[in-house]
Amino acid sequence: MSSTRFPYRLRLPGPTAIPERVRLALARPAINHRGPEFAAILGEITPRLQQLMGTANDVLLLATSGTGVMEAGLANALSPGDKALIVNSGQFGERFMSIAAALGVAVDTIDVPWGEAVEADALARRLEGADYRAVVAVHNESSTGAVADLAAIGQAVGRTPALLVVDSVSGLGGIAMKQDTWGVDILVSASQKALMCPPGVGLMSVSPKAWRVIEKTSGLPRFYWDLRKARDAATTGQTAFTPPLAIAYGLQEALNIIFEEGPEAVLARHRRLADAMRHGGAALGLPLFTRSPIVSDTVAALTVPEGLDGTAIVRHMYERYNTVIAGSRNRLSGTVIRIGTMGHVGEADILLDLLYLERTLVALGRPVSRGAGVAAAEVRLQAG
Ligand code: PLP
Repeated sequence: MSSTRFPYRLRLPGPTAIPERVRLALARPAINHRGPEFAAILGEITPRLQQLMGTANDVLLLATSGTGVMEAGLANALSPGDKALIVNSGQFGERFMSIAAALGVAVDTIDVPWGEAVEADALARRLEGADYRAVVAVHNESSTGAVADLAAIGQAVGRTPALLVVDSVSGLGGIAMKQDTWGVDILVSASQKALMCPPGVGLMSVSPKAWRVIEKTSGLPRFYWDLRKARDAATTGQTAFTPPLAIAYGLQEALNIIFEEGPEAVLARHRRLADAMRHGGAALGLPLFTRSPIVSDTVAALTVPEGLDGTAIVRHMYERYNTVIAGSRNRLSGTVIRIGTMGHVGEADILLDLLYLERTLVALGRPVSRGAGVAAAEVRLQAG
């Protein structure tokens, strides 16, 4: 897989590269997940996750990828006969719609052109006189790089009885999250993105408003996803069912790394590197696809120029440079490439991505001014 000349580079918008310290932590011996030794780990990671999430709520860990906690969010927030409003502005908004359909939930959608984010005023108008039990949004839409203005959305939803359910699977740890200030009721995330761990831990945090709903309504049919079980277990320093122990070790170490750098400094690093990537991409003739007022700092979604096929770029980057970037597995296929700028990334990663991208574009017959991407990124890095 790897060679000395071109070491394997995982540059997806998740799963992301895992730092050596986390990989070593994954190899720790098994412990009793019902004993004080696991409770100590939960006791250490919970307040740190709360800080990253900007919440005083309980934080619940479930063994699942991100989609599992998305489903758990809807299954707990809604009951049979309830209606939800889903903001649909990309692949993961669509995922929420598929989950709702599978759960038999009636939904309305606000359809936003891909690359844009929902306008809070438009959302507020949709809520007037309506009786939605949940409003569902994606914080960082990984397919387009658009970031939702959760402060404004939270204000609009907070004036109604609806719960605000938010997917920050590809945001948490890389872009700011202020769950309590913004009024997010159910926040879901996952281990394999900015949190620098393998896939397998889903994270949830649930507001008092959401707990009141969960307590007094039947919810949708669920067993494993019943958050009451997760909350009760958390109060005793456990998870309801056997946790992915190795990933819990990894998360503990990843949080050590994040808190050594400082959460604010981590966000600032993401901002600076993503900005450099966006400018470097544009200088190579791959302008940003994203058009929302807030642009992702965890993924760069770059537009592939007319006449080129994005999948050819992705393939060449992998076959020639052992560098794994993402295309699009949706309606943007071939027209947008995506590179992760989250987690365990530094300047060298961004500059090398741009250098390999430049060589790839040249190999694919594209006229590129040599060094333009790296130079544009370097200007931004020096300015930041
Ligand atoms: N939500 C967002 C924004 C994502 O980027 C992803 C994965 O890429 C998911 C949800 C789904 O997570 P998973 O693939 O871990 O189930």
